[in-house]
Parts: sequence; structure tokens; C-alpha cells
Amino acid sequence: MSATPMDGSALASRVRAELKDEIEGLGDVGLATILVGNDPASEVYIRLKHKHAQEVGIKPVDRRLPEDTPEDELLELVGELNEDDSIDGILVQTPLPAQIDEARVMRTLDPMKDVDGLHPFNAGQLYLGRQTLVPATPLGVMTLLNEYKIALAGQRAVVVGRSPLVGKPAAMLLLQANATVTMCHSRTDDLARHTLEADVLVVAVGAPGVVTADMVKRGATVIDVGITRTDAGLVGDVEPGVAEIAAFLTPVPGGVGPMTIACLLANTLQAARYRRGALAFPRV
Ligand code: NAP
Repeated sequence: MSATPMDGSALASRVRAELKDEIEGLGDVGLATILVGNDPASEVYIRLKHKHAQEVGIKPVDRRLPEDTPEDELLELVGELNEDDSIDGILVQTPLPAQIDEARVMRTLDPMKDVDGLHPFNAGQLYLGRQTLVPATPLGVMTLLNEYKIALAGQRAVVVGRSPLVGKPAAMLLLQANATVTMCHSRTDDLARHTLEADVLVVAVGAPGVVTADMVKRGATVIDVGITRTDAGLVGDVEPGVAEIAAFLTPVPGGVGPMTIACLLANTLQAARYRRGALAFPRV
């Protein structure tokens, strides 16, 4: 039997419709994106983020800098957007060019405007189980799991990948939902030994076929976060045969991708609420 596809496109469009109603009642909401260089994949993501932002009534502000921009110039732009009252959320598209220290840039963001959840304050809040702004991709993963009523409490969740944007925050959110969480990465010995134990398997690597059908427990829920561009189009990390073993599986495209953008917009709305005092933002 083939796995039930977890339709992220349909859920994302419902999330966007709900956001639109809420944003209408809030007045002007602004989301600034910063793109350094012309990475083609990043340009596609920025375009999609702007398109969907506009659809829900968020004003996108497109700031671009050349590939060879010195770090100080980028920090200056972040500072300017921090001060700009018309901007509720700031997203610095990654990866950044080699001359720029990504962590320093994230530390410069106003935590209240950090819609990617990468400022150490927001990352720390997540670690402590007191979420403020959480990275959009893991938030999208959790929203999908909730939509399909996938049990998490007491279940074994295995996350493959430990990036600050996807793997680590996904593991934290699963832990918060009372799953028993294992994190795997490029140095994990015998990856299959771990993945075979997973009731819920989240794969965020960026290597097509890293998880094969013989690495998945029958009846598991498999969330394929990976996106790789190939001549045949976009492919995930999970090989297609997994659909014959898993009970639920996210398609690529149409699974986690659209949920990421919807959750970015949800984070922008949340940032707007923090900034207007409608939600309390904890400050140290
Ligand atoms: P990343 O920063 O490159 O992290 C990749 C992770 O995979 C690292 O933790 C790495 O381990 C681990 N890894 C690499 N090879 C492995 C292997 N053979 N076995 C087990 N683990 C391995 O990437 P990312 O930003 O997390 O993104 C991961 C994938 O998700 C990419 O394809 C990206 O395009 C996609 N993505 C999709 C969305 C979406 O909306 N669907 C959003 C963001 C990212 P080490 O830490 O040991 O190096």
C-alpha cells in the first residue's frame, strides 16, 4: 500500500487564507528580505516569499546587495531595517557569501523582527522550550504533523540533519511535543540503525536518496525536507520507494516547501503582534 501524501500545498493555502483575515485587522505589516549576491535558488525563494506575502496583505520590501558586499555594509542595512518602523520582519536569505559571518549578521537583527528565528535569543528560547520566533521550516513540519494527527508523545522521532535552520530546531520542537528524539548527521555511524527505529522520520540533508526504503520502519511518518534541483526537476532526500513502506510521506515538491513560506508569513504576523504590544515579547 502506498503512503498517504501529506499535502503541504493545500494546508499552506489554508494557513495563508487565515493569515490574510488576521492581517487585515492589524493595519500595515512589512517584511524586508535581504539577498546578497545572485544565487539562482535564493532568487526563486525570495520571489515566492514576496508573491505570497503580497497575497496575504504583507508588504514585501526587497533589498539586494552585490556578492562582494563587505560584512559591515550588510550589518548597516540590517541596522537600518531594525530602526524602520514600517518593517515588522527581516529575513536575511542564506547562504551568505564567504566574507560574511552569518552568525554575526543574525546577532545584529532585532530579535523581535527575526522572522527566521536565527537570533541567539530566539534560538535560546526554543532550546528552553519557551518558543518566541521559531524557524519557519520546522514550524511547517510540526504544522503538517498536527494536521495529519500524527502521534508524537512517547513516539520515537529521528531527525537526520542538524543545521540551525532546520534539523536542530525540528528536534527541539519534537522534544517539546514529548517525542523521544534522536539526531543524526554526517558523522552518524550506521544511519539505518537509527532511521529504522523512527515512528516519525524527518530528513533534512540535501542529498537525494540518503534515505532508502530499507531504512524506514513500516507504517512510519516520513517528512522529506530536502530540496535538490536535478535535470528531472526538484527532488527530496527520500527515495520514491519509501512510499511503499511509510504510512504518511511528504511529497517533493508540494510538501514542506509551501509550508515553510506560509510559516514565514505567520512569523511575520507574530512579529507584527509583538511590535504592536498585542503579544508580549520576553526581554532579558
Ligand atoms: P545544511 O545546513 O547543509 O545541513 C545538512 C545537514 O545534513 C548537516 O547537519 C549534515 O551533517 C547532514 N548530512 C550531510 N550528509 C549526511 C549524510 N550522508 N547522512 C546524514 N546526515 C548528513 O542544510 P539545511 O539548510 O539544513 O537544508 C537541508 C535540506 O533541506 C537541503 O536540501 C535544503 O535545500 C532543504 N531545505 C528545504 C526547505 C523547505 O522549505 N523544504 C527549507 C530549508 C532547507 P553535518 O552537520 O555533520 O555536516
